[in-house]
Amino acid sequence: MHTDTHLFTPDYDVADLDYAAALRADSQPLDQSVRDQAAHWVQRVRDNASDEGPVASLLQEYNLSSEEGVALLCIAECILRIPDSATVDSLLQSKLSGLDWRAHSGRAESWFVNASTAALLVTGKIVTPNPKGAWNSLVQRVGEPVVRVMVRKAVAVLGGQFVYGRDIKAALKSAKKEICSFDMLGEAAMTDADAQRYLRSYHDALDALCTQPDQPLHQKQGLSIKLSALHPRFNPHQKDRLDVELYPRVQGLVIKAAQHNVPLCIDAEETERLLLQLDVLAKLAHDPAITPSWEGLGLAIQAYHKGAQQTVDFVADLARDSGRRLLPRLVKGAYWDAEVKRAQTLGLDSYPVFTRKADTDLNYLICARKMMEARAVMHPCFATHNALTVAAIAALGSDGYEFQRLHGMGESLYAIAKPKVGVRVYAPVGPHRDLLAYLVRRLLENGANSSFVHQIADDDIPVGAICQDPLNDTSRAMHAPHDLFGARTNSLGFDLDRAPHLARVQAAKVPAVTTVDTSASEARAALERAHGAFGSWNGAGFETRSQILLAAADLLESHTAEAMQLLADEGGRVLADGLSEVREAVDFLRYYAMQAATMGAVKVLPGPTGEDNHYWVEGKGVFLAIAPWNFPLAIFLGQVSAALVAGNTVLAKPAEATPRTGLWAVGLLHQAGVPRDVLQCLPGEGPVIGDALLGDSRIAGVAFTGSTATAKRINIQLAQRDGPIATLIAETGGINAMVVDSSALPEQVTRDVIAGAFQSAGQRCSALRVLCLQEDIADAQIEMLTGAMQELRIGQASDPSTDVGPMIDAKAAAGIRRYLSAIDANGAQLLAETPLGVFGDDPRYVAPQMWRLADNAMPDREVFGPVLHIVTYQSDQLQATIERINDLGFALTAGIHTRSDLRQAQFARSIHAGNVYVNRNQIGAVVGSQPFGGHGLSGTGPKAGGPLYLTRFIQERTQSTDTTAAGGNAALMAGG
Ligand code: NAD
Repeated sequence: MHTDTHLFTPDYDVADLDYAAALRADSQPLDQSVRDQAAHWVQRVRDNASDEGPVASLLQEYNLSSEEGVALLCIAECILRIPDSATVDSLLQSKLSGLDWRAHSGRAESWFVNASTAALLVTGKIVTPNPKGAWNSLVQRVGEPVVRVMVRKAVAVLGGQFVYGRDIKAALKSAKKEICSFDMLGEAAMTDADAQRYLRSYHDALDALCTQPDQPLHQKQGLSIKLSALHPRFNPHQKDRLDVELYPRVQGLVIKAAQHNVPLCIDAEETERLLLQLDVLAKLAHDPAITPSWEGLGLAIQAYHKGAQQTVDFVADLARDSGRRLLPRLVKGAYWDAEVKRAQTLGLDSYPVFTRKADTDLNYLICARKMMEARAVMHPCFATHNALTVAAIAALGSDGYEFQRLHGMGESLYAIAKPKVGVRVYAPVGPHRDLLAYLVRRLLENGANSSFVHQIADDDIPVGAICQDPLNDTSRAMHAPHDLFGARTNSLGFDLDRAPHLARVQAAKVPAVTTVDTSASEARAALERAHGAFGSWNGAGFETRSQILLAAADLLESHTAEAMQLLADEGGRVLADGLSEVREAVDFLRYYAMQAATMGAVKVLPGPTGEDNHYWVEGKGVFLAIAPWNFPLAIFLGQVSAALVAGNTVLAKPAEATPRTGLWAVGLLHQAGVPRDVLQCLPGEGPVIGDALLGDSRIAGVAFTGSTATAKRINIQLAQRDGPIATLIAETGGINAMVVDSSALPEQVTRDVIAGAFQSAGQRCSALRVLCLQEDIADAQIEMLTGAMQELRIGQASDPSTDVGPMIDAKAAAGIRRYLSAIDANGAQLLAETPLGVFGDDPRYVAPQMWRLADNAMPDREVFGPVLHIVTYQSDQLQATIERINDLGFALTAGIHTRSDLRQAQFARSIHAGNVYVNRNQIGAVVGSQPFGGHGLSGTGPKAGGPLYLTRFIQERTQSTDTTAAGGNAALMAGG
């Protein structure tokens, strides 16, 4: 059977260029008559510009390349959810001041845009500080409350334009003349409570829609549902749960829709969810409980996706196999930015979506043709605001399909084009507070400027250019994801959400490595050899060593899957953590290799006549690299490769818990060409090896990453020895905080807090330990976090469905449990806990937990496990909260979630942290993008993966030669 999703593998691993060539081969040039028709419509739309819907007019005036446009939408995104005045004021001041609202005044044809502009002009003036830094005198006169009220009003008007109705009843009322597909909500569900709420709102909507008079299906109001709203874990690794928990929810809705002959469409989602969606669709199509004669089951297919044509084929086959006529909707695609970013972040071979708009347009037309040809088994819906697309489809047939447009857009185009088939409106319904945030964010994310809606209204773009056949487009595709860093190749990743990629990882075996602890005398012998090997290695030159590192990077990259297995087996790293760790190690090797490649050149320095000045750098001698167990590959190889490439010989000590990973990595470097005496691995007890080597003056430097206590001890041992003062690079712990104010989006905060606090079972130095919530939103945020924590899956590290694996060992877990008992005894309150299930009996597991200490206190130490502390603060206490965090003495990572640029700047300026993150999580620093490391109690720097790291491993040398003593300055004499 074709409709088995196991057999469906969209080929989106194809590179953009190959795919574009295939698209062109499959495309036919558009007829002149189609282009003429489209051009005629565009001209008429322009001639009737004042008829264009308010949303389109607004986007036209405040397009996303203008600062004012972005500011306006940013305010609209969040203002309605902010309960307190202080945060609103900070937001308005940061978004409105200093912008040129006057330039937009009275320009638009729409009264609505002009009215909004007038409001913003006044407000913008009010909140712009005068040269003395005080707020404009108008504020003093009218007072801030008036400003707030005005902007809220303006945004509420805006909300009324974007949102079709606040609830289904209101929506149905305003939909008298239009046929709609109602979209009921905004965000994806983060908790089961969210999912249940969304399910109820879908049922309520359906109940209302079921009361429609009996009419043919295509004249009835319908509903769009989003599967990710119906389950908080709608992702491929939770498929077993989804079969049991999600399917019955969807089935209940669909049975109801079918009984009352109401169209129901499954909305578009991100690529990694496509197969899950198709799986649900296939089950529904075959489900005997759903009225067999109902033809209203739909799915949105996104033409920007490289698998779109196969999805169309899949849907057609499904309709044939199941005997059920289907109602697919073809759209351009909703998550372009997110898809591109994800592919780049994962370092994939290629993008799952087209990066040229023209390719999407071509694919849309090919898909449309396929759907029109399959009209015997489906009733296609074409969602588009593009005149050329409308004309091209209209030329393919005059019945058996429909058009769709978004509420507020494409109104005049369809009014002018008057297609022979129906035009359905995709209409967002819900409270403005939630929905506006969602809609505006999607607009901001997707950048509306290249869209047809924007172009059609822009008189500066000639009609001919807008109606150009996409076949003739000559724009270039985006660079592949691995070309992100220019000359340095990005490390290659897997997409663990995709079965073929995951299968490759799962097929890999844990490399066999045997390890024996190094004794003190063996460590001293190793030092002897390393010392002896220094001269030739240092003399080999930067260029040679850099080439060896590049070879090692390629070698490691080709063993990514094995390394992930080893990291899971020995270090308890879940697969996603293992993957990002291997990639980080590859990035370190390439980054330091690139930097070192040019370091070796001798530089000629200026000086007086008769003197030659030269400057060069070289290695220092023997480095001891001491790594922690929590990044046993990336940190280990980062230290080792930096020391090596600078010309040092290295004794590399992996942590006690992860010796096999260290030995394996050193084996790879040997294979890549590092001589055995130049790099030696010394697995074993830290104090044994430390005591054997740290007193020896032949150790030129130590690169250490681990706890602050161990770093202090090493520092003392080095200081006490005779001989030269050694270099010490120490990267240590942190008590990392995140501050969240009332303008933050709770769903984003939840996502980032869960990742920051509980990924890797909290065993990251960068992990979030203290979440500081503004009091106004604390309860709601804690509730959402609590719900999300119930959804986390505890499991074995090598199981791809695991979110939180074991701690490194039972001893570490026992230490965390002791800490928890102690705070419990001191009056702390346990706010939430993830159930451990069957892993409750395994002493290596600690449940992710959220606590509030007595008296709203901050923790006094680094708790290296899945424990999150909650602290609350009042809106006007942001600075005081920052100072409380600073008083802890650490300075590693810190985060803030706020929509106010002023608060972002205030936080970044005054928080003590090496790495500050805004509106994202605070883990997973990327080499070269976020050089990593702290100060204060958190380390010495320089930052790993940053521009200055190598400088700590080198010795600078200069030579000045008095050339007058040996015959004078030849150049001067020749010239003179
Ligand atoms: P740890 O200090 O116990 O051990 C780190 C390393 O030091 C291990 O290899 C250990 O064997 C070795 N060691 C211990 N005593 C020694 C001694 N006397 N002489 C020489 N070596 C000795 O730390 P850990 O528990 O392995 O790692 C967790 C800690 O590391 C946390 O505090 C975490 O924040 C920190 N960390 C910091 C960073 C960073 O970049 N800032 C990164 C990862 C981990």
